[in-house]
Amino acid sequence: MSNTAPVKNTVPKILIVGGGYAGFYTAWKLEKLLRKGEAEVMVVDPLPYMTYQPFLPEVAAGSIEARHSVVALRRHLKRTTVVAAKVTGINHAQKVATITPVAGEAYQQEYDQIVVTAGAVSRTFPIPGIADNAIGLKTIEEAVAIRDRLMSNFDKASMLPAGPERDRLLTVVVVGGGFAGIEVFAELRSLASSLIKSYPQITFSDTHFHLIEAMGRIMPEVSLKTSEWVLKSLAKRGASVHLDTQVTGAVDGNIELSTGEVIPSDLIIWTAGVMANPTVVRGGDLPVEERGRIRTRADLRVGSEEEIVEGAWAAGDVSAVPDLSGGGVGGYCVPNAQHAVRQAKLLAKNLVAVLRGELPREYFHKNMGAVAGLGLYNGVFQSGNLALKGFVAWVAHRGYHGLAMPSWERKFRVLWGWWNNLWLGRDLVNLSTVQNPRYVFEEFAARPRPAAPAAVEAPAAPAAKKAKVESVPEKAAATR
Ligand SMILES: Cc1cc2nc3c(=O)[nH]c(=O)nc-3n(C[C@H](O)[C@H](O)[C@H](O)COP(=O)(O)OP(=O)(O)OC[C@H]3O[C@@H](n4cnc5c(N)ncnc54)[C@H](O)[C@@H]3O)c2cc1C
Repeated sequence: MSNTAPVKNTVPKILIVGGGYAGFYTAWKLEKLLRKGEAEVMVVDPLPYMTYQPFLPEVAAGSIEARHSVVALRRHLKRTTVVAAKVTGINHAQKVATITPVAGEAYQQEYDQIVVTAGAVSRTFPIPGIADNAIGLKTIEEAVAIRDRLMSNFDKASMLPAGPERDRLLTVVVVGGGFAGIEVFAELRSLASSLIKSYPQITFSDTHFHLIEAMGRIMPEVSLKTSEWVLKSLAKRGASVHLDTQVTGAVDGNIELSTGEVIPSDLIIWTAGVMANPTVVRGGDLPVEERGRIRTRADLRVGSEEEIVEGAWAAGDVSAVPDLSGGGVGGYCVPNAQHAVRQAKLLAKNLVAVLRGELPREYFHKNMGAVAGLGLYNGVFQSGNLALKGFVAWVAHRGYHGLAMPSWERKFRVLWGWWNNLWLGRDLVNLSTVQNPRYVFEEFAARPRPAAPAAVEAPAAPAAKKAKVESVPEKAAATR
């Protein structure tokens, strides 16, 4: 926190905190709307890409290549300064943010307008063993690691005799029956069923899939009837859903349930909710509401109906934006991509309007419905009373998300991958060894010989005697 990057000129500086859905779209739209020299835009994110999170379950199942489900910020944001760093503090009273770069020292960045779009992180409870043994599903790294773990466990299990260790390796537990949980659960079940064909030592009944949900139903975004159809579809494919059940422990990978059951598992995926990014929310002086989100107005300026925090904006999962359509939970927009993208586009328009002395507009979006993939060729879609199930819904899922992926460059990569999988089959390559990329090199690398052991020293002698002994070689050298 030693140096300060000052605002050098009078061009307004817009600082965007987070280059995910909302941050990327805000910057993208600002590039289109801003006239030359009207403002400078900077996006700060520790990651060089925006993650298309709805694809994470398909990445975990290997239906989408990991790199294709993210969007490189520097490729698509041509007029924006991309900063590889975290924002670790916001002092809006002084209009200064603390930037902690991925390399180098933290510094202070002045700004005129701040846009907070730092998203959300997995929300866990202090259940023993969860922090140490479970994995979330919010990042591309987690999705890749989940696939690697499942595939490596098939390799290990295929070499073991029947018994508890083999069962543990072939057991997957997902906690949380919301959209993300159900999607990853169904996708992994579908992947495991494909894998069995390549492992003659493993049968379908050797694999165990459990989803734990604290409420009496899954997927609150769809109707009860549709959610019951999903339960039946999962049961048909050998996946068990435990409703009205809580996880009470996960020590050493033994999942303990409120029913008294214990399920040993080597792959525990936690998808039971999210919370607004605590680093950014707690590390700043912007107003925060009861659920830990940045209090945001319907015009996407930070503040409340009564009070506007000038020069501060927020959108996406980190913000509590009133849902004027009346459909939100507790009166606020739910944390999803549908809102993040639309809020971001309006935020950019509103910000430009305010810079030009015009009035901002209020955000209004009526939920379009929900669509989920449930493994290859199966899905579910709900919009109002209309529900589609099975193959048609799966096509709708792929169609919607294929088109919603930002930029044609990225759409093509995803669509091309899907097309190839369709006629070439699922890609079963497991590259988990990238976690230890030097293992072959290290094994065979030539090393310097260890130094010869030092000569055994003569027992310590009195000082005068020692000096006499040391003088002998000198004398010998002189007489040669
Ligand atoms: C598995 C899964 C499936 C989903 N499926 C759907 C779906 O089908 N439909 C739907 O509408 N929604 C879906 N969602 C939700 C949707 O992806 C999120 O609501 C959306 O990503 C929120 O966008 P955001 O910009 O607020 O946050 P994010 O997209 O999470 O972006 C936040 C960004 O902030 C960065 N950041 C974090 N900390 C800092 C910091 N200190 N400083 C700077 N930058 C920081 C992060 O690196 C990240 O790039 C899904 C989510 C998941 C996890």
